[in-house]
Amino acid sequence: MGAKSTDTDFAHLRHRMVVDQLRARHLDDDRVLAAMEKVPRHLFVPETQRHAAYNDGPLPIGAGQTISQPYMVARMTELLRLSPTDRVLEIGTGSGYQAAILAELAGEVWTLERHADLADRAAELLLELGYTNVHVIICDGSLGLPEMAPFDAIVVTAAAPAVPDCLKAQLGFNGRMVIPVTSGHNEDLRLIERSAPLGQQDDVKNEKGLDSSFRETSILACTFVPLIGKEGYPQ
Ligand code: SAH
Repeated sequence: MGAKSTDTDFAHLRHRMVVDQLRARHLDDDRVLAAMEKVPRHLFVPETQRHAAYNDGPLPIGAGQTISQPYMVARMTELLRLSPTDRVLEIGTGSGYQAAILAELAGEVWTLERHADLADRAAELLLELGYTNVHVIICDGSLGLPEMAPFDAIVVTAAAPAVPDCLKAQLGFNGRMVIPVTSGHNEDLRLIERSAPLGQQDDVKNEKGLDSSFRETSILACTFVPLIGKEGYPQ
């Protein structure tokens, strides 16, 4: 599409994206699909990429980083099973697009980014679009945000060498975390679910009998930019 593309053109492309890329691949969470249908993805990519904003793939956003493929954003969001009052932590703000989707579905979102220029641009756009429930913070997100923990959901949008223990510790009881972990030449998208402690949920048993436990499930192979930081890869 040319420079004169209208909001209606983009809305049409966005609808095709939901039908052809998401529903066709069996994503069927109505709340997630409604958020994907609503958030103007083309505003989160550089102007030179706008024509490709609703294509079935990732796109460059500057600083050597990428906005993830729409399917990956929707799939990760679906795995988080968000409720309207949930407190969510995202690591890797990038363009701010995933944060906007989270903000549509949850109560409050904290999103962490190590590149100040990306964080500033994302914060400005999110505010312009009226997302007052998103807090963009410039820091090493591999350490999470302990001062705001616990979170109902944590999503990491960069590939980690392993699941950082500090992030597991910041997940609340019954919390869900989605994180790509390096495995061979690719990454493996993992879902980590924290159960409630004994007493609150009878069928959970572990050695201490007091703590909650974590269940880790491998979801699919994927490709992400690296998580760089203290609990990630060295710079
Ligand atoms: N969720 C983004 C895409 C993220 S790309 C979107 O919707 O556009 C991954 C991002 O993680 C990059 O912007 C990269 O700079 C950031 N990142 C990598 N390591 C990080 C760290 N330790 N802390 C915070 N951000 C990090």
